[in-house]
Amino acid sequence: MIHGTSASVESVSWQSLLAGSLTDPKQLLTRLNLDPALLEGARAASADFPLRVPEPYPNRIQPGDPNDPLLRQVLPLGEELQEHPGFVMDPLGEQHSNARPGIIHKYHGRLLLIVSGGCAVNCRYCFRRHFPYGDNNLSTSQWQQALDYIRADQSIREVIYSGGDPLAAPDQRLAWLTREIAEIPHVRRLRVHTRLPVVIPQRVTAELIDALCGTRLPVSMVLHCNHANEMDHELGQAIHRLKQAGILLLNQTVLLKGVNDNIEDLVSLSETLGDHGVLPYYLHVLDHVKGAQHFHVNDRAASGLAAEMLARLPGFLVPRLVREVAGETSKTPLAFGP
Ligand SMILES: *Cc1c(COP(=O)(O)O)cnc(C)c1O
Ligand code: SF4
Repeated sequence: MIHGTSASVESVSWQSLLAGSLTDPKQLLTRLNLDPALLEGARAASADFPLRVPEPYPNRIQPGDPNDPLLRQVLPLGEELQEHPGFVMDPLGEQHSNARPGIIHKYHGRLLLIVSGGCAVNCRYCFRRHFPYGDNNLSTSQWQQALDYIRADQSIREVIYSGGDPLAAPDQRLAWLTREIAEIPHVRRLRVHTRLPVVIPQRVTAELIDALCGTRLPVSMVLHCNHANEMDHELGQAIHRLKQAGILLLNQTVLLKGVNDNIEDLVSLSETLGDHGVLPYYLHVLDHVKGAQHFHVNDRAASGLAAEMLARLPGFLVPRLVREVAGETSKTPLAFGP
């Protein structure tokens, strides 16, 4: 057990935690004392998109509760296999924005660099669930081409490490890339979008911080935390280390039915982020990806929740409610209101 032991944070490597991930639905159900009747659906859905959850995460799940908000994010359900009109394989049409291998350049001044195809966890609502990018990484010459693309476009001010999950990449690659990017004069900022520290807080090592913060570039990190229960002591400590290194910490959340689609959970998440000095940045409505229909919250309910957050929280703890629309020049805000 990792949870609650004093020497926990530095004593277990994140690689070993990742390697020891639970992948068998039966293991997860047994571990969490859940109804074996869930197994059949879990097996069927995980044949489509595998179960994967690293060991520190189930520590935060309430045993015996099939509706636990963290469990719902990772447990495959038979419902995923139902067909729903409008829920498709590639809702963002992302395959068409690949300027070069490893680059997604859709918005002015900033682009995504796909640093790693892998993730630490398979989130059931993920819009990438039908593109197992796998762990196949770019070759050296492809990395050079991606860097050349950034060098050649003076309008690029910010490079955003993305994935998969960029922090699934080894520190040496992150350090090398960051040094290369810092040598491109028109790049002014580095950003990292990651869920890995939420799932495995032990990922935030001194080496990682050196790799990201060792250059002239100011660094921001957007964590992907969806529920206050994900914020345990270890994650709090990891956030503290990131903040001490001068990293600006933001969070984005996906609004998910049965996970966080009620005002109490949303307020509690914002307050908890605020306690740790992390600013809520975006609240995303779900992309209409096939297999994730049961997480869908309609726009009216989403807008109502956003309006209530505005009424309950200081402005700086209210995330922007947005959706991603293929072809738009930024995320698209949803109107607030009941
Ligand atoms: C979300 C996103 C960004 C970052 O957008 P911000 O509004 O700056 O957070 C950049 N590129 C792509 C392709 C994105 O999807
Ligand atoms: S961490 Fe992000 S990219 Fe990876 S499976 Fe979860 S939602 Fe998808």
